[in-house]
Amino acid sequence: MDLLNTLVDKGLRRELPTREEALAVLATSDDDLLDVVAAAGKVRRRWFGRRVKLNYLVNLKSGLCPEDCSYCSQRLGSDTGILKYTWLKPEDASRAAAAGVAGGAKRVCLVASGRGPTDRDIDRVARTIEAIKEQNTDVEVCACLGLLSDGQAERLRDAGVYAYSNNLNTSEATYADITTTHTYQDRVDTVRRTQEAGMSACSGLIAGMGESDEDLVDVVFALRELDVDSVPVNFLIPFEGTPLAKEWNLTPQRALRILAMVRFVHPDAEVRLAGGREIHLRSLQPLALHLANSIFLGDYLTSEGQEGRADLDMITDAGFEVEGTETSTLPEHRRGGGCGGGPCGEAPAAETPAEGAAADAPAAEGPGAARTDLVAVRRRGAGTDLPPNV
Ligand code: SF4
Repeated sequence: MDLLNTLVDKGLRRELPTREEALAVLATSDDDLLDVVAAAGKVRRRWFGRRVKLNYLVNLKSGLCPEDCSYCSQRLGSDTGILKYTWLKPEDASRAAAAGVAGGAKRVCLVASGRGPTDRDIDRVARTIEAIKEQNTDVEVCACLGLLSDGQAERLRDAGVYAYSNNLNTSEATYADITTTHTYQDRVDTVRRTQEAGMSACSGLIAGMGESDEDLVDVVFALRELDVDSVPVNFLIPFEGTPLAKEWNLTPQRALRILAMVRFVHPDAEVRLAGGREIHLRSLQPLALHLANSIFLGDYLTSEGQEGRADLDMITDAGFEVEGTETSTLPEHRRGGGCGGGPCGEAPAAETPAEGAAADAPAAEGPGAARTDLVAVRRRGAGTDLPPNV
């Protein structure tokens, strides 16, 4: 297919595809799916070989958020039955992080619900990082604490944060349909503050919220314009008790097309397969490793992932290898700032847009099967007495 040959050539040269080319990837048929995966896989292997970087999430503060992001199980007044707790003690967070590192994670993502941290919260996170690094000197730390105000990015950098994550989530045009308590521009500003402080910017999207193909391309191109180092691709987990609980719009094939499009637009950035992979890709998860070069190990913030052992087996069985600490994740031309990180100060593991325009927008394809049986609230790991899933 000429389209795919063009996109591979561009990806190998780090050249930006056109919007029309990106839209054409999303419009390919299921008959062409393996060709699309193979083409994007060439680009992935050019910049990341067969390495898979494992990130491990530690939810420092769960639920009780005053914001109203419609996709989020931790939103204001949500009735999702998730674990709710306030800040973990540094030693408890450190214990959770150590379990992830022992399971093969190279990066630990410290996440807290909320609009953004107070200066006291930054002190708390700094103490937590100190405790984590006492045990695991080499671990990369990504923080995801919401919107940052003046000076906070620099303080986090000085505390040892390598990457900061704040997702744009969806297009600017539909942002107000999923969240009313902050704006798309607020998030862009936080990504810029991260970069200005010299940290690596991680920012991604949530697919499956009822958005159009154009919306997906808009947000993926906006992230390229921001030149983020890593792009987590979340697939909406339609949590019961959120406004988007009924939004089951994705098929495994569409999820793969979305990942391929992201890879073509971000050839040399970390593309992270994030929340929702188990419930939307299901048995096609291994194919996604040809597109993404990073995944989260084990559980998400508020929902359970597949067993950590199954993640590791999947990587080996598909012919990939877990990336070690001795290897730099990003290609040489991208190194220097921070890393290429995890989720954002929000939930990579759960979501849906409000019952507004985004929810009413026609899905680009027919709806996927509702697999509520695959959505499980996290009941183990950080914030509980049970061991984490690693
Ligand atoms: S995404 Fe983040 S800011 Fe929005 S409701 Fe969830 S925890 Fe709060």
